[in-house]
Formats: sequence, structure tokens, C-alpha cells
Amino acid sequence: MTDIARLVSEIAQEMRGAAERGTVASYIPPLAAIDPGRFGLCVTLADGSVHLAGDADEPFSIQSVSKVFALTQALGKVGDSLWRRVGREPSGTPFNSIVQLEREEGVPRNPFINAGAIVVCDVNLAGHEPRVSIGELLRFVRHLADDESIAIDEAVARAEQTTGFRNIALANYMKAFGNLTHAPELTLGVYFHQCAIAMSCRQLAAAGRFLMHGGSSQPGAPRVVSAQRARRINALMLTCGHYDASGDFAFRVGLPGKSGVGGGILAIAPGQASIAVWSPGLNANGNSLLGTLALERLTEATGWSIFAA
Ligand code: GLU
Repeated sequence: MTDIARLVSEIAQEMRGAAERGTVASYIPPLAAIDPGRFGLCVTLADGSVHLAGDADEPFSIQSVSKVFALTQALGKVGDSLWRRVGREPSGTPFNSIVQLEREEGVPRNPFINAGAIVVCDVNLAGHEPRVSIGELLRFVRHLADDESIAIDEAVARAEQTTGFRNIALANYMKAFGNLTHAPELTLGVYFHQCAIAMSCRQLAAAGRFLMHGGSSQPGAPRVVSAQRARRINALMLTCGHYDASGDFAFRVGLPGKSGVGGGILAIAPGQASIAVWSPGLNANGNSLLGTLALERLTEATGWSIFAA
């Protein structure tokens, strides 16, 4: 059997020494200030054991990884009717692309591109003040991770609010097609705060456990979602979780995964592990360069893959 503890620390050591680290996202000013030398890895196994290396306890901006939790929440509220407003197909376009929206009449391809995630926020906002909706998501994430210390980085949320012109454009465009029910600025307020949730690799891997255990955070614990819903969220992470590099991630890592421009990735080996990695330098597709490489090393060594016999 692979010695996971040793493997995790060997991978972290290799990544610490890597010369090519990608480029830290600069379009959200507070993220531009993050040291590209940081690296954290946490593997939470199905038996509950937690294996950490590097900066695994350092909170970072989870950004689009939050879309997994917001989608889970929206499905809990409106079920499959969500799919009338958001598609389930990979987009093959960058995270913030607007081009498909015109051809597809304001219905985003999937819930993990920005346009789709903004519609998901609009669903979660129904019947609430934005502040309450944000609080509800934060409570849900704290519950999943079993950690009350998780918080929103207000400086990141404010920076996104003042510089998020593409997201503002996406929201307004969808509003014009009738696919936003609230004022764009209200829905965007929820979206920007959701992206600004700060979590460590340890907390993120813990929050992902329900996707490893078929819908419960621990075997025997009350369900967060049904087994079918957990499978479907994993399917969306595999096909859409890395934007126009989702195929490449499936090829190299072979697991459902969701990345964020903060450099975090949550990856799920169903029945085996919930894994969180953080390295702030991004590749050309806006996904963590060393985070992806670390996951590739981990799955090569363990054989974890949803495609394995
Ligand atoms: N808050 C980021 C944005 O909307 C999220 C993008 C990402 O993490 O991929 O631009």
C-alpha cells in the first residue's frame, strides 16, 4: 500500500523547489500580492485520516472552488429545475467568456463558468437579502468543513466589486435575456463574496468529503445530498471544473476537480480521498500550475482515477 503521508510530503518538497511556478492572478489586486512560493497539500482519506504538507493550514482565496458549494446549495433549493437556467455541457471557453451567451440566449453552458455561477447565485438569493444569502452559504461551508473559523476576506470581495467589469457585463447581459431575477448588482454582491471565502487546504479537503462518500461527510452521518446528486456534481467537476482545460485535467489527473484563480484545486477520488492543493501561480488557462502537477503526481503514485479498472 502507498504510504500517503510520505507521498504527500515528497510531493510538497518537489513543488517547493520547482522553478516554473506560473503567474499569480493580477486582475484581482489583493491576489496579485500573494507569494507564488506558497504551496499546500491536504489529502483526507476515506478512513478519516488527514495528511498535510507545506502551507496546508494557510487560508487562501478559494475563488471559483466556491462554485461547487454554491451549486450544491442551489440544487438543494430548486432541484433539477436549475437546469432550465444553466446548462451541463463543458464550454471549451475561458472562465469569464461572454461569446457563447449571445448564441445561447443568456443560458450559460454550465454552473462553473462565471456566467453559470452568477445564475446559481441568483437562485440562492431568492427570498433573501444578499447579506443573508452570503451568510447562508458561509454557514453551509462551515458545516461541511466542520470548522466555524472559515470567513470571507472582505478586501478581496471589495476588490472584485470594483474591478469585476467582465462579471458585471455577464450579469447585465443575462439580465437582458431574462435569466437573472434580481438586480445584477445584488446577484453580483453575492457572487463576489462567495468567491472571497478564504479557506486552507485542510478546510477545503474537509468540505469536499461529502463528494468522496457519496453524499455524506462521513459514512453513517446524515446526508448532505443524495448519492445521485453527489455523483452528478462530481461529473460536472470532471467535465467543466477547469474551464477550457477540463479535458486536459481529466487526461492528466483523472479525477473530478474544481479550480479557482486563487490557485486552489479541490479534487475528489470517490470512495478514496478528498484532496485540496494550493499553489497561487496559474497556467495559461487560469488553473494552478503546480497544483495540477501535484495532483498528477499523487494520482500516478496512488492509482486513483475514475477511469481505472
Ligand atoms: N472571482 C473570480 C472571477 O469572477 C473567479 C474566477 C476563478 O476563480 O476562476 O473572475
